[in-house]
Amino acid sequence: YNEEEKTEDYLFKIVLIGDSAVGKSNLLARFARDEFYPNSKSTIGVEFQTQKMDINGKEVKAQIWDTAGQERFRAVTSAYYRGAVGALLVYDISRRQTFDSIGRWLNELHTHSDMNVVTILVGNKSDLKDAREVATAEGKALAEAQGLFFMETSALDSSNVAAAFETVVKEIYNILS
Ligand code: GDP
Ligand code: MG
Repeated sequence: YNEEEKTEDYLFKIVLIGDSAVGKSNLLARFARDEFYPNSKSTIGVEFQTQKMDINGKEVKAQIWDTAGQERFRAVTSAYYRGAVGALLVYDISRRQTFDSIGRWLNELHTHSDMNVVTILVGNKSDLKDAREVATAEGKALAEAQGLFFMETSALDSSNVAAAFETVVKEIYNILS
């Protein structure tokens, strides 16, 4: 590698998917801006947010796409997935129904993007301990069966939020470099 190649930018498109209200927009808000919206509506969704990250001393840009709430109508378009190399597949640990939807989201992801898209299964709202409906072991088992990374996060208290995004970006970087 010469000097010129060393300063070359990496830009990875990563998509957030999962049922409505699982916390996708807040995971992005926490990661990119360290913000949280206690009563967020789908309107806070931006099209995408670019976040600079340092991976092994290299500057990597993650272009993270968020839905504008269209997942409520099961109408996330193929344009949303186009060119994605990473995905966060999010459910809410306090709503079993959102975990039951994961298979459908995985099918949709594989229909619209490369089979090799680096994917992490994310059980969000880990702060809601008393309302938990999905055990950590269930999330872990599903991820293992489907060959996905797995993490439980809380956009509210920040736990594992950066780690979840970094896991995906590091793996993409390792594959491509
Ligand atoms: P989206 O529809 O998947 O983008 O979900 P939002 O990010 O809009 O979040 C839906 C609701 O869940 C909002 O009221 C958020 O404040 C709340 N929320 C998001 N993440 C968390 C979390 O980690 N813990 C808790 N307790 N609430 C959260
Ligand atoms: Mg949203």
